Amino acid sequence: MAKTAKKDVLSYNTKLRAEIETDVNEAPRARVHSVEWRKIMDGEPVEINPSIGHGYKIMTVDEWAGRWKRNDDFPECLSCNSNNTKEHHFTQTWCRGKKTWESELLCMDCHNFTWRSYRDPDFKLPEEYEREKWAAMVAGQPVPV
Ligand SMILES: [Zn+2]
Repeated sequence: MAKTAKKDVLSYNTKLRAEIETDVNEAPRARVHSVEWRKIMDGEPVEINPSIGHGYKIMTVDEWAGRWKRNDDFPECLSCNSNNTKEHHFTQTWCRGKKTWESELLCMDCHNFTWRSYRDPDFKLPEEYEREKWAAMVAGQPVPV
């Protein structure tokens, strides 16, 4: 029972119905960590992860990214093809079985950031559904499903 159920679990990276957008940058495209990345590149101290200490420290890229994990679904750096990467940003949003997600990796070999993002062609946020539903009701049209 558990086995069959597992097969049906929806995952962000399966049954994709559109192209994954990709992008390679020398700095994070995601807002998260972008300030710290600039400091690391400039040799300025950055905040120590609160789970291991406190205060600020000048860190190497390896040290700073030490706690991040590789995303084994998308491990490849699109700049140098290395799989020696760590994911620093991941979000996914689901609405009525449709999805959108973003992933960004830091390559530990070339220090470029690889961005991937995906959006189902008919993905809508819950508030967009609501707006369309009300617009249809006001106009006396069938409510979109
Ligand atoms: Zn690379």
